[in-house]
Amino acid sequence: MRCIRGYKQNEVEIPPPTQKERDKKKKQQPMCQISGVKKLMPSSGLTNSSIPRFGVKTDQEELLSKELENLNKWGLNIFHVSEYSSSRSLSCIMYTIFQERELLKTFKIPVETLLTYVLTLEEHYHADVAYHNSLHAADVIQSTHVLLATPALDAVFTDLEILAALFAAAIHDVDHPGVSNQFLINTNSELALMYNDESVLENHHLAVGFKLLQEENCDIFQSLGKRQRQMLRKMVIDMVLATDMSKHMSLLADLKTMVETKKVTSSGVLLLDNYTDRIQVLRNMVHCADLSNPTKPLELYRQWTDRIMEEFFRQGDKERERGMEISPMCDKHTASVEKSQVRAGPRAGGPVLPGGACSPGWLAGAGQGSDRTCSSPWRSVGRS
Ligand SMILES: [Zn+2]
Repeated sequence: MRCIRGYKQNEVEIPPPTQKERDKKKKQQPMCQISGVKKLMPSSGLTNSSIPRFGVKTDQEELLSKELENLNKWGLNIFHVSEYSSSRSLSCIMYTIFQERELLKTFKIPVETLLTYVLTLEEHYHADVAYHNSLHAADVIQSTHVLLATPALDAVFTDLEILAALFAAAIHDVDHPGVSNQFLINTNSELALMYNDESVLENHHLAVGFKLLQEENCDIFQSLGKRQRQMLRKMVIDMVLATDMSKHMSLLADLKTMVETKKVTSSGVLLLDNYTDRIQVLRNMVHCADLSNPTKPLELYRQWTDRIMEEFFRQGDKERERGMEISPMCDKHTASVEKSQVRAGPRAGGPVLPGGACSPGWLAGAGQGSDRTCSSPWRSVGRS
């Protein structure tokens, strides 16, 4: 018997619900299920002693090792990493960066838990989506790792902030369906309904990324204190929501103001002595890494462009099939790759990197002195 509480003397008894009512209630339940979370085979099956050097099983470890010598450089060829790691670039790169930065020690992350999480996360990226797959996530986490090492930001960020930025980069596009927020809104998708048309995909990536921590042996933050977990979650949400391109212009305006009024210490390090300033730089950093394709060596940039155009065209095909208006850059019969890159460039990758795409200035200072060849893709597509 269920009772309506609150009336101490006259509790009202309600009969238990019938099966029909139960079914009706089930149908009416809020969307408590996060779509896209798959049940996978439990754990990676790896024991501490059998963990491969770079976290993933491969018969090309030597080649992988050679490529990963560029782990701290802007020009690392993530396509090679993918090739030598049996298409497990995200698992491999996330594991190796966490090892390199000693985050397992600092935050007492059991190595098997880290591997189980990264492999599960990678499984939740769609391999059949041309651009927004785990390779892109691997690229963004590695680019964030390089940006974090910029000399101008030396010792500015706490270990927790670094952990949050890398985690945000890793999950920032998980379960991406290969279509835009506007497409999801225009087609009345479940996701758009769930998030009320507001940063639909970004909200979903966050929900899936955090939900996966609850899978068996996946909680890489198990040793963090309650406050640390809360803080980390707050920062990750902030950073992933800032990858929504509709927020780009305001992000850029805020960053400009900050750069103009930036405070620098005598040793040339940026003075970011409060949380608001530090999270602002971090959210821009992940956003920059997300848009960094045109600043990479031309051979890499070309491959990314082919992938994004393929994804756009597939969305265009879906729109054509449904009799919808075809989104900008998505019509394979009329779009020009060059024009779309020029169009996307100044709006996206160009000005967000202070100092221009080829010299990302203080934020990408770590790129200087690396093997990064400034391919200047902009010039070839008519920027000058
Ligand atoms: Zn992305």
